[in-house]
Amino acid sequence: MSEKQSRLSVDLTGRVAIVTGASRGIGRAIAISLAENGAKVACVATSEKSAMGTVEAIREFGGEAEAFGCNVGITEQAQGVVEAVLAKWEKVDILVNNAGITRDGLLAQMTDENWDDVIQTNLRGTFVFTRACIMPMMQKRYGRIINISSVSGLGGNPGQANYSATKAGVIGFTNTVAREYAKRKITVNAVAPGFIATDMTAVLGDMIITEAKKRIPANRVGDPQDIADAVLFLASDAASYITGQVIPVDGGMTA
Ligand code: NAP
Repeated sequence: MSEKQSRLSVDLTGRVAIVTGASRGIGRAIAISLAENGAKVACVATSEKSAMGTVEAIREFGGEAEAFGCNVGITEQAQGVVEAVLAKWEKVDILVNNAGITRDGLLAQMTDENWDDVIQTNLRGTFVFTRACIMPMMQKRYGRIINISSVSGLGGNPGQANYSATKAGVIGFTNTVAREYAKRKITVNAVAPGFIATDMTAVLGDMIITEAKKRIPANRVGDPQDIADAVLFLASDAASYITGQVIPVDGGMTA
């Protein structure tokens, strides 16, 4: 058996989780960490094939996972995934809205298409998946919703007007849904990663990565596991009294 990746041990035995954007980067680390701690995980990516690598990694250590392909921003497709998960595992306890894209550029050059694409995936995707899961969670009087925002949504970032708007939007959404469903024992929180080493940041090139590192008090870029461990805590019973919060996981960037 391969070495455990999550540095926390929580008991998620019997829990059912959906993780969007689970094929790579942060979402893959989250899916594996939830499964290592006992959850059954629906791994969602743009295609079933791309989610399959994570599912295989989970099955290798004896965990339970299924792959689903969908465009998170398309209502029918998102609802279809949630319905399939309910048909297979009868409930959804944990939803991690992690799928996200960037289409960077300064505002004057930003096209309508680049604006709409980022809103569609990052913000609408979070909305439609959350709406699809909320009734099943209400029926069970249990839910953990964790939305992946960004430090760009807290402080802004030049070249990312579209992306920052979605990540700030995710925070407003989190706070509101947290207030609406706290009585039903559903918690809704956001994690705001700083600069994390994934495909999303690799495209920026060495020069920008070196510059970014200078703004990180911890003097290192983050690892997907840094985010996954924060999500794991929020998904656990230990976090039952935490809702409507944004937790930056950024090596001190926003300190
Ligand atoms: P990544 O490596 O680029 O992976 C993105 C994931 O999202 C992939 O699994 C991708 O699936 C999936 N995805 C993209 N568009 C989708 C769509 N329309 N429908 C379904 N799935 C879709 O990204 P990452 O760096 O791990 O980022 C994960 C989350 O963290 C994002 O929300 C991002 O904004 C946020 N974040 C990242 C950083 C960072 O420094 N990396 C910092 C702050 C916040 P495919 O593999 O099928 O394409």
